[in-house]
Amino acid sequence: MKKILTMGLAVASAMTIMACGKAPEQKPAAPAAGAAPAAAAPAAGLPLVGVTVYKYDDNFMSFVRRAIEGAAGGKAELSMQDSQNDQGKQNGQIDALIAKGAKVLAINLVDPQAASTIVSKAAAAKIPVVFFNKEPMADVLKACEKCWYVGTSSPEAGVMQGKLIADSWKAHPEWDKNKDGKIQFVLLKGEPGHPDAEARTKFAIEELNKDGVQTEQLELQTGMWDTAKANNLMDAWLAKHGDKIEYVIANNDGMALGAINALQGKGYFKDPKKFMPVVGVDAIPDALAKIKEGVMVGSVLNDAKNQGLATLQLAVNAANGKDPVDGTTWKLDDKKAVRVPYVNINKDNLKVAEDAYK
Ligand code: BGC
Ligand code: CA
Repeated sequence: MKKILTMGLAVASAMTIMACGKAPEQKPAAPAAGAAPAAAAPAAGLPLVGVTVYKYDDNFMSFVRRAIEGAAGGKAELSMQDSQNDQGKQNGQIDALIAKGAKVLAINLVDPQAASTIVSKAAAAKIPVVFFNKEPMADVLKACEKCWYVGTSSPEAGVMQGKLIADSWKAHPEWDKNKDGKIQFVLLKGEPGHPDAEARTKFAIEELNKDGVQTEQLELQTGMWDTAKANNLMDAWLAKHGDKIEYVIANNDGMALGAINALQGKGYFKDPKKFMPVVGVDAIPDALAKIKEGVMVGSVLNDAKNQGLATLQLAVNAANGKDPVDGTTWKLDDKKAVRVPYVNINKDNLKVAEDAYK
């Protein structure tokens, strides 16, 4: 019963969307007696792009969402869904989007392992899929003819963050509080199994060591990309290690901001002697403000605007049966992925990041 109801609703909203998607000049003349007025609408309308976001309550993804919406004007009808961090819910949303007549899916997975389920659904409906932000396994993308990915090269952010840490460390010998020549660090990891979290964690430390900086890990735990969770972890770590901590490395800015909040609660940053270096990734506006204040050392720009734009452009091309990068400046790599470059951000080039989040 519930299913029938849902389907009924889906059909009803699909009709609304089709009606909305019509170009204004297509206003139908009074229908001839007995004619079904809405039947011819889809051909003239914009393609319906079904988008799922793993959860709306994610700092960075809120900017990607906004970028997708901004890019869609005049090119696509969007139906965007909040998967609320629940893969089961996302699967249901995808069924509903297909039932609504989506011509393409743009999917930010909840669970990177769920890509093959979604590919099967799309294949059965004969529609293409553009995954974004959470990269599916390479073999899943390869096996699917009309599937692509838009994101970044995950290791790149780690390498850049490692460089940023190394440069700042070398410029501030006083940060080595116990004078042992090593960084005693704590690391706030993103969601385990997320390619960005895994690669950033690994490559940041590897790059530091490559740059000749020795490291000692005091703590490494997941804060699930989340400010409040990171705040709690940092509180606990400060209680346990206090001033033995010499550097806070966060896989994203959301968590870096949580750590800063905990540090401020313990009196850090009030005078130059009570400083704790913190770095993140994303370069979201709240982090840029902290960099400007001199509280945060730096971040790595994860270009939300261009990732949103590329996702929408590939999706619309695919929906229209064109080559996915047709008429764009994007290039697909050998993994069928568009990778938007990261940029290292510190107080000297804040403008680059400010522009990317306008
Ligand atoms: C971002 C994180 C975000 C995550 C969501 C990452 O690329 O850096 O801030 O939480 O994507 O999947
Ligand atoms: Ca030290």
